[in-house]
Amino acid sequence: VTIARVALPINAEQAFDYWLPAGLEVKPGSVVRVRLGRKALLGVVVACTEDSAVDAARLAPIDEISPLTPLPADVLELAGFVAGYYQAPLGLALALALPPLAGGVPARRREESPLALTVAGRAALSQLAGRSSIAAALHAQIAALPNGLTIDERKQLSVAQRRVLSQWRKAGHVAAVPALRDSASVPQLNLDQRDAAAAIIGKLGTFAPFLLQGITGSGKTEVYLTAAAEAIARGGQVLVLVPEINLTPQFEARVRAALPSATAVSLHSGLAAGDRRAAWQAAYDGTAALVLGTRLAVFTPLPRLALIVVDEEHDASFKQQEGVRYHARDVAVFRARQRDVPIVLGSATPALESWHHARQDRYQRLLLTTRASPGATLPRTIFAPDRDARAQEGLGSVLLAGLRRCLARGEQALVFVNRRGYAPSYKCTACGWEAGCPRCSARLTVHRDARQLRCHHCGHIEQLHAACPTCGNIDLLPRGIGTQRLERALASALPSARIARIDRDSTRRRGAFASLRTQVEEGTVDVLVGTQMLAKGHDFPRLTLVGVLGADNALYSADFRATERAAALLMQVAGRAGRAGLAGEVIVQTDFPDHAVYRALATDDYDRLADTLLHERKIARLPPCAYVGLLLAQAHARADVDRFLGAAHAAALALEQTDAGVEIFSPVPALMARRAGFERGQMVVQSNRRGELQRFLTRWRATLAAVPSSRVRFAIDVDPMGF
Ligand code: ADP
Ligand code: ZN
Ligand code: ZN
Repeated sequence: VTIARVALPINAEQAFDYWLPAGLEVKPGSVVRVRLGRKALLGVVVACTEDSAVDAARLAPIDEISPLTPLPADVLELAGFVAGYYQAPLGLALALALPPLAGGVPARRREESPLALTVAGRAALSQLAGRSSIAAALHAQIAALPNGLTIDERKQLSVAQRRVLSQWRKAGHVAAVPALRDSASVPQLNLDQRDAAAAIIGKLGTFAPFLLQGITGSGKTEVYLTAAAEAIARGGQVLVLVPEINLTPQFEARVRAALPSATAVSLHSGLAAGDRRAAWQAAYDGTAALVLGTRLAVFTPLPRLALIVVDEEHDASFKQQEGVRYHARDVAVFRARQRDVPIVLGSATPALESWHHARQDRYQRLLLTTRASPGATLPRTIFAPDRDARAQEGLGSVLLAGLRRCLARGEQALVFVNRRGYAPSYKCTACGWEAGCPRCSARLTVHRDARQLRCHHCGHIEQLHAACPTCGNIDLLPRGIGTQRLERALASALPSARIARIDRDSTRRRGAFASLRTQVEEGTVDVLVGTQMLAKGHDFPRLTLVGVLGADNALYSADFRATERAAALLMQVAGRAGRAGLAGEVIVQTDFPDHAVYRALATDDYDRLADTLLHERKIARLPPCAYVGLLLAQAHARADVDRFLGAAHAAALALEQTDAGVEIFSPVPALMARRAGFERGQMVVQSNRRGELQRFLTRWRATLAAVPSSRVRFAIDVDPMGF
């Protein structure tokens, strides 16, 4: 009897053995349904053997084999690497590589997208102009519609016209445009772009990591797409990772414009299960030439993989913060090496990790130093005091004057503050009481419209207090500025302006973000107020003024990456201004304009800042100049956390006798000591060498299994974002 060893998506190290009923066939990678206790689970076969350590009579059978194509060997290997490197059970890592297996038939959205002429179609069909035929009339109709022929318009066509249209579609003369924007025009690359693309293309077929460092608006996307087009033309597939779901439609439109005849699919958690499964299968079959996705797409089976792109590679959302705590950028680099293909990491503000590699010539740096759109230049930066006596709800006079000028010119402005809600604090003016979350060590945020206090960490909600619970005073004041407060302040200061707010609250509804985007593009919005959702990647041509409030907050943070993050965010936000030839201006309210972060912004010199920060990290022995593993533990009682971490610490010290290259720090409370009712603690281990840390963590984790921890949940975070 054949026995299949199955890795299950549970927090257990070992794989489980099941016998294979006669007539069924599996191989490593097959997805099967089995029972564990009373639970039915989907797992992945990792080995087929003839004998098991478990008594044959006690083995359960495999209940069912999923119709899903078995995972290919390289994806099994990739999951194995991820499990080993990130100290996670193999079954959980393998689960990341599977599409959702239940629910949701594919929506046929693509059929409903408008159809527009592709670049090839424009050329091939141009001779129809001025003729009189069915095709010529149809061509004239489509050519006049830059946003494409909608599904309703297609229904009005005659049968003959529809037949012509479907021929054109097969020939690649027309293609679906996923959104009503982006005409199918692809710019001529400038010299920098051409050099960068040529360098990447020159390495197709071999592992070669590139850091494509281009200022905001320098046209990095065109470089990716040019290299992608070549990789696809040679029969390859391309994987493009982007940080945010909201960015995929815009990116998709550009992909379709640049690669009209290539099939592109997107893969992200915002899709219906059936759509994700279909996209996954198309990638696996090789019918999709390009896969555009968020971090989870890094595991997609791609038999003809030829190039990987990670856009906005510095973005923190590439790191998963629960379960298997992998970093998709780093996994992508592993995969590029595994598959012998080039990888391009693109950013205006590279992560110090990537910067470090580039400085040591492990990554080849490609530079784009000018804005690509004709006439576009980087915006001018102006600093204004944040504490301005004449400020209206945080809006200083300099910024207000700038906004008025911008509106008078008929252009758009963006005002950025990285806090949603009305105010980040609610305080008593008499005794100093401040509303705090009962379940977290955190302040509650005022949401004025709902007259509520909300915790942004655990979701706790309470009504706004009428009087101070400590002294009875009725003078309670919201302190600080959130997006809702800013929105109101702008409305009263600029009564004729049309204002829209973009943050997690205003875009919760499906499609809300896209519809706000469309309003901005159509010019029905004058001033945008929002959080970092607005900072990333978006291209709004009429936006010329960016205002920034409250950026100094980041400078007080205890997080060792705070400065790096603040710089990246500021440069991203500032980069939204003046992208299409209209002169841009950035007004930053700060009380510390001489801080290195603001100097970097004003002089547009990220390199110098990055070198300075890297030097500081080296001295402080922080990542990327040291390798860190973080043990996180939480329990309802602090004593349980302390006991667990104490035992873990002792176990680490005992191992360190033999592993001298690893430094072990004492347990401490987490930066947020209490969250959602859990007491949290952590301890750091670190090494100058990745390999040594890895060996240590593997041995340490094995000993942790023996530490009594029934009331404690713990996890190891390798290369943590903060600690
Ligand atoms: P980045 O991602 O580097 O911030 P984008 O790739 O979004 O920049 O490009 C910014 C804008 O410049 C886009 O509107 C793009 O269409 C345009 N663009 C890119 N390359 C060129 C070029 N060679 N000539 C003209 N416009 C270009
Ligand atoms: Zn009080
Ligand atoms: Zn809370």
